[in-house]
Amino acid sequence: MAIERTLSIIKPDATERNLTGKINALFEDSGLRIVAQRRIRLSREQAETFYEVHKERSFFGELVDYMISGPVVAQVLEGENAIAHHREIMGATNPANAEPGTVRKEFALNVQENSVHGSDSVETAAKEISFFFSDADIVG
Ligand code: GDP
Repeated sequence: MAIERTLSIIKPDATERNLTGKINALFEDSGLRIVAQRRIRLSREQAETFYEVHKERSFFGELVDYMISGPVVAQVLEGENAIAHHREIMGATNPANAEPGTVRKEFALNVQENSVHGSDSVETAAKEISFFFSDADIVG
């Protein structure tokens, strides 16, 4: 299996409830390494650009409002098969459908305030990582 890097975001509902450490522990316990991490407040423009792929969806406006409602923690996670592995640890988008032990089952509030984001492909991961980090920010 290939060593991959993926972009993770700990979302405002989770930073608000002081869950960064608990979520990071789930990632690290599962074998992922946090090789870059930055706590920031997204601007509306950044959130709209990041979620551009969803701009035609009915919930786009709400999603952007939520993502700028508080700080987020952007991270690069590294490990074997990290993209799929991370999405498995995150759990289903809607926490009602997430498996026990996943971040979203444990911590998410609802389908929108679902605590974490993770890239969904090699191409998306590369694009999303460069949205937040330069090569020099990532220390493996
Ligand atoms: P993900 O890859 O599991 O994060 O899911 P998607 O790419 O489909 O959706 C992106 C984000 O939009 C999700 O993580 C949620 O925060 C939000 N979202 C997805 N579906 C809905 C929905 O039906 N309603 C609302 N309000 N937000 C949603």
